Amino acid sequence: MKKEQRLYTPGPTQIPPRILRAISRPLIHHRSDEFKDLFHEVRERLKYPFQTQNEILILTSSGTGAMEAAISNLFSPGERVLVIEGGKFGRRWTGISQAFGLEVVKFPVNLGEVADPEAVDRAVAQDGKIRGILTTLCETSTGTVEDIQGLGRVLRGSAILFIVDAVSGLAVDELRPDDWGVDVVVSASQKGLMLPPGLAFLSLSPRAWERVEKSSSPRYYWDLREYREFGERKLTPYTPAISLLFGLKEVLALIEEEGIEGVWARHRRLAQATRKGMEALGLELFPQRPSNGLTVVRIPSGLDGEKLLGTLRTDFGVLLAHGQEELKGRIFRLAHMGWVAEGDILRVIGALELALRKLGLQVAVGEGTGAAMDLLMGVNR
Ligand code: PMP
Repeated sequence: MKKEQRLYTPGPTQIPPRILRAISRPLIHHRSDEFKDLFHEVRERLKYPFQTQNEILILTSSGTGAMEAAISNLFSPGERVLVIEGGKFGRRWTGISQAFGLEVVKFPVNLGEVADPEAVDRAVAQDGKIRGILTTLCETSTGTVEDIQGLGRVLRGSAILFIVDAVSGLAVDELRPDDWGVDVVVSASQKGLMLPPGLAFLSLSPRAWERVEKSSSPRYYWDLREYREFGERKLTPYTPAISLLFGLKEVLALIEEEGIEGVWARHRRLAQATRKGMEALGLELFPQRPSNGLTVVRIPSGLDGEKLLGTLRTDFGVLLAHGQEELKGRIFRLAHMGWVAEGDILRVIGALELALRKLGLQVAVGEGTGAAMDLLMGVNR
């Protein structure tokens, strides 16, 4: 029997059947009144999971497209930005910024650690010319969650734009852009938002819009002034991913039913249970400040990570993610973001116990799942 595979990868993530049904509806035309109503409605309702009153743009793209749109619309060549680089996705901000001729001041952070807001504040003050700070809510390559609230606090009152990549963190880790002073939030459909890849999102504060008007960077498809102007007429400048917008409407209903605080709390609880499970199996967690969207674990010495993830996939039908770049072979990443419940966590921890045993590690079968269950039931052993 061919096993169905369940995605425990930090994007794309598992899609609820209700969403699959919604996106398989017959298409409507993107210049019709029905489309206008749908598009306007989802843009308005998106403000709730984004926790912002700012306007939200919907782009047809993966997350990186919205990152690029942010850079090309907010800054001009030669302007200086500070990038918090704690992994692959921090470095992506650097790459895009340099491609558009910005001067990047790197704020490097050890993998698995976060930036100290006071130290960032000092770096910015010392430089004196920083126009924007680019960071990542959940650095998916290390499973670390950045202190966005703390960074917002030290930046408050300055003219520096605060831009956060929440591609994997939105509707997973707590984020309150308006309360925390975040100007721009970037996200995408295929992670906490439980949709297939193909939509990207950008929220912009009024002062971010002022920068959009002034930027001299080249832009055409990502000229956000076009998106804003068409948006006022409930339209998109180019053909949108209509099917995904059907799905988005259902996603918004799911999130509204649970409440965004409920969504964050569920992720927190499942993440805590997963971490307990890993520790009970004698595995070491990688990040110092873990995101609630994924658990990143060091691969014990002597164990072949390729074999472990291969066994999990072929024997148990669970797909986890490897480490990337310099973390290849050193960690594995087990995501619990989006459409995830208690049973999903127990299934993957159980599979991990059996796979580790199969590969010759002396783990006590049942210890990991037991510890996770204890946490879920509120029992202290
Ligand atoms: N930022 C973060 C934090 C991510 O996790 C990802 C996707 N893994 C991206 C950016 C890039 O998004 P995409 O692959 O959708 O372009």
